[in-house]
Amino acid sequence: MGHKLRRLLQQVLVLVIPLFGYTFFTDRDFAQWQLQFRQLALNNGIQAETFDLAFRGLTPDSKVLRLDAYQPEFSRTTWEYLDKSVSADRLRIGQQKWQEHSALLKKISSRYGVQQEYLLAIWGMESGFGQRMGNYSIMRSMATLAYAGRYERRGFWQDQLLAALRILQKKDVTLSSLRGSWAGAIGHTQFMPLTFERYAVDFDGDGQRDLVNSLADALASTANYLAQSGWKKGQVWGEEVTLPTDFDWAQADPVNWQPLAYWSGQGVQLVNGNSLADWRDELAFILLPAGYRGPAFLAYQNFRALLEYNNSVNYALAVGTLGDQLRGDRPVVAEWPRFERDLSRYEKAELQELLSAVGYSTDGIDGKIGVNTRAALRRWQADVGLPSDGYPTFDQLQLLREQTEIPFTYSIQEASG
Ligand code: CA
Repeated sequence: MGHKLRRLLQQVLVLVIPLFGYTFFTDRDFAQWQLQFRQLALNNGIQAETFDLAFRGLTPDSKVLRLDAYQPEFSRTTWEYLDKSVSADRLRIGQQKWQEHSALLKKISSRYGVQQEYLLAIWGMESGFGQRMGNYSIMRSMATLAYAGRYERRGFWQDQLLAALRILQKKDVTLSSLRGSWAGAIGHTQFMPLTFERYAVDFDGDGQRDLVNSLADALASTANYLAQSGWKKGQVWGEEVTLPTDFDWAQADPVNWQPLAYWSGQGVQLVNGNSLADWRDELAFILLPAGYRGPAFLAYQNFRALLEYNNSVNYALAVGTLGDQLRGDRPVVAEWPRFERDLSRYEKAELQELLSAVGYSTDGIDGKIGVNTRAALRRWQADVGLPSDGYPTFDQLQLLREQTEIPFTYSIQEASG
């Protein structure tokens, strides 16, 4: 099959698949599910009164199911994500909010050991400093997804729904305030119900942990979450570095944590020319979000804490650089390879198929670049004489297409997480 036809077919699939993504339901099915779930909730310590209040008049929300079924073909590149997240507007509003809430931020920061600028950055990223907390009923969204969301995720949603019921039962937040994103994220810093239960704190001392109406509670809860995820007091998340031209690119991997003294020995230098830190025992990995042609960073323990908060390298990098720039640091110095675009899910799957076909097994084909695909890609890159940074590009996909002439016959497995 030719590449043009193949791509046309992919596009048709992208258009058609979402139409079958809905689960059709009837009132009776939902009533039956609710009856069973009520028993489960009661067995798990939810009082009948709480359950009946939460479910009074509740119907499934088909819009939530549509949003749940939607999976974009392309994801944003790191620089597109950062352009949007660390915008001039956000920096300006962030500075204003810092002034406005400086006493509160100072108090939270000294209690939990997380610098004020990163708390502000998370607040900005999660809800635009409280402007976009979401107005979906958390009960309705969680019930909808537990009842009819993607099958393999229903257990996850059911646990979130039970947590939301417990939050309501403890009277931390009233039912009418328990609103947020369609996917259940609540309040200024968008905590999922289970995260809320585990990490929320009452910082303003009114006896309730209210992440929607109390900024003090929300920001302190975020600081508490980071502190419990191993945040190191006073340290930064990472720093931009330059790498020597003969750097062994295979070493730049999120699983390769080494002491700073080691990286220093490899010729890694801070981009501002300063020598690497005083804390030479500190472990760090080299992060190349856009491969060897883009900026390079040393990522420290606090980067890992940010990933605990939200397991996305782009997110952690955005929070880190937004916080740095709120503090007055300069933006990222090195140029991003803006001439590149992200491979689509189908192209990533094709890359995996082709790598496997020429003897570099990616251990499965899911359209996502994970540890095994990166490792296979690095081995192939090294063997064909390219820098082995494990970062897939369109040119490399083309080269692999030329190396092989096998038809594109598989389908992508539905993602389970
Ligand atoms: Ca409170």
